[in-house]
Amino acid sequence: MGCIERRERTLDKYVEGVYKSLVEKDPLQKEFHQAAYEVLATIEPAIKKFPKYQDNAILERVVEPERIIQFRVPWKDKDGKIQINRGYRVQYNSAIGPYKGGFRFHPTVNLGVMKFLGFEQIFKNSLTSLPMGGAKGGSDFDPKGKTDNEVESFCTSFIMEMYKHIGQFVDVPAGDIGVGAREIGYMYGAYRKITNLHGTCVLTGKGVVYGGSLARTEATGYGAVYFCDEMLKTKKESMKGKTALVSGSGNVAQYAVQKLIQLGAKPVTLSDSDGYIYDPAGIDEKKLEYVLELKNVKRGRIKEYAEKYKGVTYEAKKTPWGVKADLAFPSATQNELNEKDAEILIKNGCIAVTEGANMPCTLEAISVLQKAKVLYAPGKASNAGGVATSGLEMVQNSQRYFWSFEEVDAKLHGIMVNIHKAAYDTAKLFGEPGNYVMGANIAGFLKVADAMIAQGVYA
Ligand code: NDP
Repeated sequence: MGCIERRERTLDKYVEGVYKSLVEKDPLQKEFHQAAYEVLATIEPAIKKFPKYQDNAILERVVEPERIIQFRVPWKDKDGKIQINRGYRVQYNSAIGPYKGGFRFHPTVNLGVMKFLGFEQIFKNSLTSLPMGGAKGGSDFDPKGKTDNEVESFCTSFIMEMYKHIGQFVDVPAGDIGVGAREIGYMYGAYRKITNLHGTCVLTGKGVVYGGSLARTEATGYGAVYFCDEMLKTKKESMKGKTALVSGSGNVAQYAVQKLIQLGAKPVTLSDSDGYIYDPAGIDEKKLEYVLELKNVKRGRIKEYAEKYKGVTYEAKKTPWGVKADLAFPSATQNELNEKDAEILIKNGCIAVTEGANMPCTLEAISVLQKAKVLYAPGKASNAGGVATSGLEMVQNSQRYFWSFEEVDAKLHGIMVNIHKAAYDTAKLFGEPGNYVMGANIAGFLKVADAMIAQGVYA
């Protein structure tokens, strides 16, 4: 990845110059190169059509984060030994609102991964139509296998530095991989203790009993399925009776499965970093309840599902993309679906790939899917339901009020329909109907770029 010669599109000189410069400046940040390439290559028609973006050096400015914070996070393990991890917050762009984006706690976290996620977040947040800038943060700390006390020690130490850089009008973080209800709870508690503020607007994904929004937990998975449903409608298809592959078994995967069941589809796989399960009979509500308990309470491994239910197979160290199905929802992590996987999905009759995770498909896989006219939804559009509902959590917190589950879900559904429409219509307008990557990137970019121009060079 990151090598311009291997790409399918030939970039124009200005755009290529911007891309080359960011690769030269940070040659090791491969995931960031990949995310930047995807955006730069697809917004090119808009850059050509409107010279003001080049005149105002918008591309050079938008690829550079406004601020990067990096710090050490010392904490004590269960034996009383001091451990050190690295903490990050990349405050990428605040042209349209306060920085907003999750924290990720995972051993693969480094500055390049933070920049890729923060960069994507700018355009995703813009697409939601809510006033939120883009950011991402986290640590190479791994909560897996840690005791609650260890996680609390880490989260408290992390916030002892991070609290200086966040706030309702500055930066409002949320969860991501490795940061769920438990971690958000500890971080919110530490923030409250340090600042003496009930800063309900400062973190989203909070527990419902202390300011969280109903339906935030479900939002990303539900939103991805709503988006897929909209794509299917453009082909006069529906979810009913469709077999679906889901990867991951965390927050996004769990609620993608739930919405699939509700809309009459049949989800048949789930995975974690050790392997995947295939349940030909389909994962139903009861089995999903077991998964929720297994993953969120017992913190067990997905292979235990295959031990509990008859007729289920478990494949270690593999991803589910070889199983025959109509729909795929990669919902675990970046680059989990490659060119070969895409070819197998197509051979097996898959008609839509909807990203629940951020950048789960490689650039080569995307190209294969698009050439075969498979409906392909990029994460920045299809998983935007999570941050959109975080935005709705901020609205409720500001009003010191809350909405019912049904109200939030209806708003989420409306936002996903609008994001689909914006991506679909924009792609058509720029001459590539059905290219959701181009449509989402241009639609997200234009709003941010115009806000940057309006606010002048120094903003
Ligand atoms: P969780 O931590 O809840 O779950 C992540 C899942 O992915 C786990 O099953 C995990 O398995 C698996 N996974 C993580 N890393 C790897 C890896 N390197 N290889 C294989 N499997 C892996 O995270 P979320 O469900 O919240 O996030 C999943 C994806 O969705 C991420 O890309 C995230 O950025 C994106 N996303 C999440 C949003 C949200 O609201 N939660 C919003 C928008 C995007 P294991 O337990 O073995 O690590």
